[in-house]
Amino acid sequence: MTDLMEYTKNGSIEVIVGPMYAGKSEELIRRINRAKIAGLKVVAFKPDIDKRYSVSDIISHNGKKTKCIPVKEISEINKIVDNETFDILAVDEVQFMDESLIDTCQKAADSGKRVICSGLDMDFRGEPFRTVPNLMAIAEHVTKLTAVCMVCKMPATRTQRIVNGKPAKYTEPIILVGATESYEARCRKCHKVLE
Ligand code: ADP
Ligand code: MG
Ligand code: ZN
Repeated sequence: MTDLMEYTKNGSIEVIVGPMYAGKSEELIRRINRAKIAGLKVVAFKPDIDKRYSVSDIISHNGKKTKCIPVKEISEINKIVDNETFDILAVDEVQFMDESLIDTCQKAADSGKRVICSGLDMDFRGEPFRTVPNLMAIAEHVTKLTAVCMVCKMPATRTQRIVNGKPAKYTEPIILVGATESYEARCRKCHKVLE
């Protein structure tokens, strides 16, 4: 069904969500590669808050990658979307972007482009992550992927934040990039948040 979206000429928004390690970036890269094989022009972005790996690549945990433009603000995406010709707008790690991304995606889709966004649907508390639920609501197509729960090996829908070997507290900030905590995929039953 997803690949049928590649043939729509009327504009559309696709959203790929799930916890960390679910294969969201892998799936985004797969869709970008297929589009390129079809001769389509892709403009790809990610927020430059995410410096875990390469700055100018969308990169997956198993080493797949594709070139992208790292951006600090949505206005940098708008500048390119307004001034360049392209067929597909792709954005990874959309949970780190502010709500004006919704407008950017709507405008691109309204003008006949295929938009593909990928990111976390829930934060470390298991609550909807910023604008991602709104993007899911306006999308033509939502793909919700699961990872493997690192405790019970069942499908994981959530991201466990671990600080000094213990589950993170509810009151911690939602976004912490490059700090000393770690993350793992967990199912609903094994996912824990301390009071
Ligand atoms: P995401 O963008 O959703 O964080 P990636 O596309 O970067 O995911 O990485 C997906 C890859 O991560 C998988 O193909 C697999 O090789 C690896 N991986 C590591 N830990 C897990 C896990 N707990 N569940 C599933 N895949 C995992
Ligand atoms: Mg990713
Ligand atoms: Zn589990």
